[in-house]
Amino acid sequence: MKILVTGGAGYIGSHAVRQLKRAGHQTVVLDNLVFGHAEFVSLDELITGDLSDTALLQKTFKENHFDAVMHFAAYAYVGESVENPAKYYRNNVASTLNLLEAMITHGVNRFIFSSTCATYGVPETVPITEDHPQQPINPYGMTKWMVEKILQDFDRAYGLKSVCLRYFNAAGADPDGGIGEDHSPETHLIPLVFDAALGRRPHITVFGTDYPTADGTCIRDYIHVTDLADAHVLALKYLSEHGRSEIFNLGNGRGFSVKEIIQAAEKNIGHNIPVQFGGRREGDPPVLIGSAEKAKKVLGWQPRLADLSVIIETAWRWHRHRFLK
Ligand code: UDP
Repeated sequence: MKILVTGGAGYIGSHAVRQLKRAGHQTVVLDNLVFGHAEFVSLDELITGDLSDTALLQKTFKENHFDAVMHFAAYAYVGESVENPAKYYRNNVASTLNLLEAMITHGVNRFIFSSTCATYGVPETVPITEDHPQQPINPYGMTKWMVEKILQDFDRAYGLKSVCLRYFNAAGADPDGGIGEDHSPETHLIPLVFDAALGRRPHITVFGTDYPTADGTCIRDYIHVTDLADAHVLALKYLSEHGRSEIFNLGNGRGFSVKEIIQAAEKNIGHNIPVQFGGRREGDPPVLIGSAEKAKKVLGWQPRLADLSVIIETAWRWHRHRFLK
């Protein structure tokens, strides 16, 4: 199949492009390169542009016969979304509408959407299943929730079939190298731990030690980015075989605390990492763990790189290669 991948030069998108190609699909990447990296994709498949550019969208859909669209392009800084919600609603919601309308105009009706566990807000129970109430606690989570709702209406009205994939904490890097996590600014725990290990930052600050968890630090469900990418390939297969809209959580169903992540990183690299203990970061739920039983059952998804040691090892290999000059 021929797939349009928006945000395909970003962290998760570039891994999806790789897995799509490995599965024999053809990809066209549309990325504005604000956060994406041109070197993560091959130049002959990259269209540099923004989803606010409706003329570019029309042209792209006219020149290609896409079988499906995978939509990774979005802003994803929770703190910034609180400071500047307009930017997030415009980019993550309004630009997604442009994309969906272009699909309808050109008769493309399979859509795979990067959603997030942030749509659940502070969970009432863990592990979180797909039917857990959704009450996002920041504009970023709201934008993803809104697109999920738009997709329900678009299915009813226009027959646009979608799979929403609610990611837990994406981590790690393709074991074959060449692509990985590189956000600027970086806010994610694992790359920041490695920055501290490399001396690129003085220390890693642990955000909060008074949470109601065994060691007092936040617990998250870390899922290897290649496993996430695999789920996209399976979601595409599901949509073409069943033509039914669905929603799936993607996580490993087990959580690690911030302290456990730092310890795992220290074990992997063989030396201590400078740590500072700080206050809580606003908007961080104490525990986020996802149940992905539905994705396993319905899509036949099986995370292959689920071990924390593999997640940490692949992330470290990438990080060292990318940043150790
Ligand atoms: N975290 C931390 N120090 C940092 C960055 C993150 O202690 O410098 C914690 C954060 O509070 C959360 C976990 O690490 O509990 C994962 O955070 P990240 O930003 O990687 O992902 P999120 O869970 O926010 O999507």
